[in-house]
Amino acid sequence: MNVADKLKLVEAGTHLPVMEEFYSLQGEGYHTGKAAFFIRIGGCDIGCHWCDVKESWEANIHPIKSVGEIICSVSLSGAKSVVITGGEPTQYDLSILTQALRDRKIEIHLETSGAYCIRGVFDWICLSPKKKSLPLEENFSKANELKVIVYNQHDLMFAEEMGKKMADHWPLFLQPEWSRREALLLTIIGYIQSHPKWRLSLQTHKYIHIP
Ligand code: SF4
Repeated sequence: MNVADKLKLVEAGTHLPVMEEFYSLQGEGYHTGKAAFFIRIGGCDIGCHWCDVKESWEANIHPIKSVGEIICSVSLSGAKSVVITGGEPTQYDLSILTQALRDRKIEIHLETSGAYCIRGVFDWICLSPKKKSLPLEENFSKANELKVIVYNQHDLMFAEEMGKKMADHWPLFLQPEWSRREALLLTIIGYIQSHPKWRLSLQTHKYIHIP
């Protein structure tokens, strides 16, 4: 199949560039510690300077897989829950993939910056806004949790701006950027103590050396 044909399939959502797939535990946010099969979709044009998956940015270096192949990997793992992450997975129409997962009664979580229209059916959406490309307004009402990555003090102000747009009942998380965790942890803890609507999220998978 030539490149143009592959791109047409990706556009249609029957195929997606998959950087990696693995069965692990959710390391961050509200569902921390739960078993989950991760589908990391390649491609992101947001360009956070601290991004820890820069190898995901170029979509065309990752293998194009059919929804059938992806579903097969999920089934073989025995997972009951899937996290679709990236890259920025909402660059793609995830309707066909997510409907196929739903048909198999797999719980579907999404990790997104919210910068694009969210296409697909999801049980849980973690919105992690990025300053370089703000979420679409409509995505705040679709999100089930807000997770702001804190790289510097200013990110706490950004978090407040983003938090105001979320419905009151959804959890709000501050997560230190991994390379800055030691420098920022005490600041974030102090901030949460004085602003208790926020909770701490840590990348626990990195502490325990699992993917
Ligand atoms: S949105 Fe996510 S994948 Fe894209 S650059 Fe930022 S941290 Fe990396």
